[in-house]
Formats: sequence, C-alpha cells, structure tokens
Amino acid sequence: MPEAPRCRFAPSPTGYLHVGGAHSALANWLFARHTGGTFLLRIEDTDAERNRPELTENVLEMLRWLGLTWDGDPVHQSDRFDLYRQAADRLLEAGTAYACDCTPDEVQARHGERGGPPGYDGHCRDRGLVPAEGRALRFRVPDSGATGWTDLIRGEVRFEHANLEDFVLLRSSGAPTFLLANAVDDADMAITHVIRGEDHVNGTPKYLLIRGALGSGVPAFAHMPLLVNQGRKKLSKRRDDVSVADYRARGYLAEAMVNYLALLGWGPPDGVEVRPLAEIVDLFDLADVNPAPAFFDPQKLAHVNGEYIRALEPAAFVERAAPFVPPGEERAREALEALAVEVRDRVRTLAEVPELIDFLWRDEPDIDEAAWEKAARGKGAAEVLEGAIAGLSSIGAERWEPGAIRTVVEGAAVEAGLVNAEGRPQLAKAQAPLRVAVTGRAVGPPLFESLAALGPDRTLARLQAARARLP
Ligand code: GLU
Ligand code: ZN
Repeated sequence: MPEAPRCRFAPSPTGYLHVGGAHSALANWLFARHTGGTFLLRIEDTDAERNRPELTENVLEMLRWLGLTWDGDPVHQSDRFDLYRQAADRLLEAGTAYACDCTPDEVQARHGERGGPPGYDGHCRDRGLVPAEGRALRFRVPDSGATGWTDLIRGEVRFEHANLEDFVLLRSSGAPTFLLANAVDDADMAITHVIRGEDHVNGTPKYLLIRGALGSGVPAFAHMPLLVNQGRKKLSKRRDDVSVADYRARGYLAEAMVNYLALLGWGPPDGVEVRPLAEIVDLFDLADVNPAPAFFDPQKLAHVNGEYIRALEPAAFVERAAPFVPPGEERAREALEALAVEVRDRVRTLAEVPELIDFLWRDEPDIDEAAWEKAARGKGAAEVLEGAIAGLSSIGAERWEPGAIRTVVEGAAVEAGLVNAEGRPQLAKAQAPLRVAVTGRAVGPPLFESLAALGPDRTLARLQAARARLP
C-alpha cells in the first residue's frame, strides 16, 4: 500500500500572513484533504529575531480564520537546533561539509578580483579547518554533474552543479540556515510532498544535495505559481494589499478568500469557479495547477466576495455584518436588521455596509453636498419635496410601510409634472431629491424600504429640513 501523503506549510514568522503564503497553505490543505493525507504546520523561526511569539500568532490566527486547520501541534524550528547540529556533524564527518572562516567582505573581494558569477569560491574546501566558534559550515557541492527532480507542477527541473556555490549549512554563529533546517525537518517529519511557492525552486537543488548526503530519501515537489499584480510584478507589501488580516478587516469572508485563492493557478474541470469548499476538495489536483504566474486580482476577489455575501441568509448576513457597524449603537443593529436583504444584495464587502445605512442611526444624515446640489437642481425638486411632505404626513404611523410610501411619492411625481409620454410618474427623478434629503447620498438601498425603516417622524423632519434649504 502506498504511504499516506504528508505535507506541511512552513511559514517564516513575519507578523502577518501574506496572500501568497495563504495560497501555498491552501494548496497543502486541499492536497491533504483530497488525498486523506496529513497537513502539518512548521514555524521556520531559526532566525533569532524571528523567534518571537507575536510574529507567529497572527499567522496562526489567519490560518484558523481561513479554516486551514492543521493536524497535530505546530513544530517550531527554534526547539530543534540539536537535530540540525547533529545533521551538520554527520555531513562534516562524511567530508560533505567543511568549516570556513571567510568573512563576507573577503568573499566579495575575491569575487571582485576574479570576476564571473558572484558567490563563494570554495576557498576553504581543502584547508582542513576545524569547526569552531566564528567558523561557518559549508556544503561541498560536487564539481560536476547536476541535480534535478520531476516537479508535480513544473515537470523536469535541473541545475548544473557548476552553477551552485558551496552554500552555508551553519552560520559562523552556529545557527542553522533555512536550507539545512528545512531539509532536515522534512525528513524528520516524514514529509512526502513539499508544496510551496515558486521562489523556492532555486533552493531545491541544495535541499536535494543535503537530503542525498544524509541518505534520507526525497519527497515529491510541487512549486506553486508566483502571485503577481496587474503589472505582472511579484506582489509587494509596499504596493499591493497582501495581508490576509487586512482583507478580513475590510469585510472579506473567509470562505470567499479561500474560494478565490483556490482559483489562482488552478480551475475546476467544469469551469464553475464559485462553489462550496467540499467540491473544491473533491476536484483539486496538483497536476492541474498551471506553473505560470497567477494574477492576484483584487477586483475579482471583491466580486467573488459579493457573491458569497449575497448567498448568506439574512440572519447570517446580520451576524457577519454586525462587527462592521458602530458597536454600542443600538440603532445600528436595528438598522442592519431592518434593511438586511436590501444591503446584503448591494455590497461586495462588509466594510461597505455602514455607508448604506448610517442614515438610520445618525441623528442627522451626513449630506453629500455634491449629491444634494445635483438633486436640488433637478426639475420639480421643490414640488416633489412638498408633495411628499404633505402626502406622507397623512399616512399615519400604522400604515407607514413601503407600498403606501410609494403611492405618495408617485402622486407627488405626477403633481410635480415628472411624468413620461404615457403619463406615468418618473419615479427615479422624483426619488433623487428625497433620497439625498433623507439618506444624505445619491445611491443606497431601495428608497421606500429605507423610509419605512426610518419611520415617519425622522423622515418628515429630514424632508422639511431639505425643503427649507431650497429657495
Ligand atoms: N519558510 C519558507 C517560507 O516562508 C517556506 C519553505 C518551504 O515551504 O519549504 O518561504
Ligand atoms: Zn572560506
């Protein structure tokens, strides 16, 4: 029986989860859930300044938020330095590694003299230095031949040894490098599939040389496509929105993020892109991932998010949107409930919710002056306001509902001469000044439902205030 697959996500603690990291984590998670395998988490915190819990916390929190839960406890490299030193000792004894006391300046100066490709020149290879404090340990890369693998996404990849420098395994401080710790841990954790970003392709021959020298077998590799922005440039923290936590704060749903990330470099065979995660788990196959860089398109993400929001039941929408309206405002929660469906169907992110309904909890609407100027200049604005005030005053609180309000506004439109060729009221024109007067904005949820939710007293007060502002 073939062994059950084991894969891992191995973030370096940076204080935040990058969408590219989330993309790799998701590929691992989908692969494990699809194959019935195991998904492990390893924190690559060998750098002393990375080894701080607060730099890992947000990464774990975001993985949990996305639902990419891992099996077992996370492994921390900072707990495992002994393992890396033991591996380094074995390589040293076998002669595959050697001590080096060159400073970076010396390495660079020699490169300056000799020219050609930069990097280490093998200066200490045969000096027989004894490992000691202040001396690094380097891997002796074979002079000839090549190292390669069959990438599950990229196919055959091969690196000539002549192009690889003798890389560092232990720094002069004694700390293991990423390359050593990464390769040793994958062997120790019995990882069968290394699924990670394209940026690790160049390090993979070194990984394979270490594994070969330790005699610890080799896993399969799948290097996921790089995520790029509209300009086809690698996503950058400075230029692009890359933090998963920021998307959460801006009202993206975890399930929409996951669905969208799954579509980067991969698509289901039937082309149905927005679908339940269980179906994506069923359909996902690393062999179908496209190696070409994938465009991380915030517009499409927002679109997918909007679809997920519209699919929420009204009560679920209220729960998810509640954190985005001012806390402690009783009227805010009521507003959300009153217009749940109307708002749900008009937003792409939950952060857009408050601006659609804040007129319901503010004492006075926050008037957009440009919108008001435009509506006030419209034909019949004053007459419509007057007609609506008169008509709505006579409705009475018990009949205050969208149908009755609509009838009044239709009547006011006709009175104001806002009728089309067939004599029908031009409702859009009549609604414009009323909407700005009551909500402060030119666009928003349906007007009659909005006025119904606001109630007769506040509606009439706002219409009167608006009328008073007109000549
Ligand atoms: N720690 C590496 C990174 O954050 C991941 C290495 C790997 O997945 O093998 O890029
Ligand atoms: Zn040296």
